Formats: sequence, structure tokens, C-alpha cells
Amino acid sequence: MVAKIRIDFHVHTKWSYDAFGDFFEISRWARFKGINAVVVTDHNRVTIHKPENINSTLFIPGIELKTPYGHVLGINLQDDLDIKLSKENPLEAIHKVGGFCVLAHPFDSRGNRKIKRLEGIDAIEVLNSSSILFKHNFKLSRAYAKMLNLPETAGSDSHLPSAVGDAFVEVEDNEFLDAMRSIFNGRGKIFGRPTSIMNKIKLNLLRITKIKF
Ligand SMILES: [Zn+2]
Ligand SMILES: [Zn+2]
Repeated sequence: MVAKIRIDFHVHTKWSYDAFGDFFEISRWARFKGINAVVVTDHNRVTIHKPENINSTLFIPGIELKTPYGHVLGINLQDDLDIKLSKENPLEAIHKVGGFCVLAHPFDSRGNRKIKRLEGIDAIEVLNSSSILFKHNFKLSRAYAKMLNLPETAGSDSHLPSAVGDAFVEVEDNEFLDAMRSIFNGRGKIFGRPTSIMNKIKLNLLRITKIKF
């Protein structure tokens, strides 16, 4: 049966040094917001190793890597990354384990606009709910994706469970794997809004307790 599948492509968990929330809390918020699946993209770390259904939310293995290209998301990884290769050639390391490479928030301060070579990037994250200049970055990123003729993705970049699902990709498909393929073939529709001010305040207060300066 063809159904609408909604995937948040960029979610951090408590396993990121600057984020909070376990899978159950994330699942609760995902269901509340009508999200079917989330990609777990912790910083430089593969937190789950196979797709897992937890409380009716599908958790998909992923990673967010700091690279010379800026932040790159590895989506739908089939295996753990080769650590050495991920430092030398992050895009190749992601592709080697069957993942897709998404250039995350290319136009905000965390991105890298000096990219010369883009071979290996499979899609551009054009909506990122945690971007400070949300609309501005959206416009630039969308134009960039169009120019490069690459598909678009969207993700909350949530560091708190209550921000999960603030941005997502929607696609109509039979099942999850088809949905992923469709999205990377450019058939996904993106939706999103900036994370609420309340979430930002809460996150910054919580971070004082977590990050040691
Ligand atoms: Zn990032
Ligand atoms: Zn992130």
C-alpha cells in the first residue's frame, strides 16, 4: 500500500556531546509530529548500526562528519565507517558502506562555502531548522541544489527531542527503502520551520550542565 512517509534526515541524540534525549523520547516527539522515520546523525559517531523500530518510529543509521567540505551527513549506512578512510576521504567512506552523502547547512556559519569539488555529494540539505538565518539559508541552499542539479533534503538538526520533526522530507512509497531511493532521485517534498525560541533557550540551559568548558 502506498503511503506518505515522512523522514527527518538530521537528528542528534544524547550520544552527541552537545545534544540530549534517548530513542524513546525522540520517538515520542516524532510520533506526536507525524514523523515515521529519523536518521540518527550524531557527530562523528555511528550510534545505531542497523535500522531499528522503536515505539513505531524507524531509526536509520547515519552520521554527521566534520570534513573539508563542511558538515556532511552520511545517510542510511549499512555498516560502521572505516575510521581511517573517513578522515582521509569522508565521502568515499560513506559510499563504501552503502550510504548517501548530504552536504549539511552549506550556507550557515557551520558550513563551508569554499567548496571547489563536489563529486560524491548526493544531495543538499536545503532546510535545517537549527540554522540561525533560516529563510535566507533556505533560499541560498535551494538555489545551490538547483545549480548543481542535486536532490534536496530537510532535517531538524535537533539536539533536543522536542525539536525532532521541525523539518522533514515527505514521499509517497510502499516502504522505507523505496522512499530513500525516491528521495535521492529527487522525488521528495521538503517541509520545515525554524526550531522554536523556547527549544533554543532550553537547549542552551541544558548545555551548561553537559559541556565542560
Ligand atoms: Zn552540522
Ligand atoms: Zn547536526
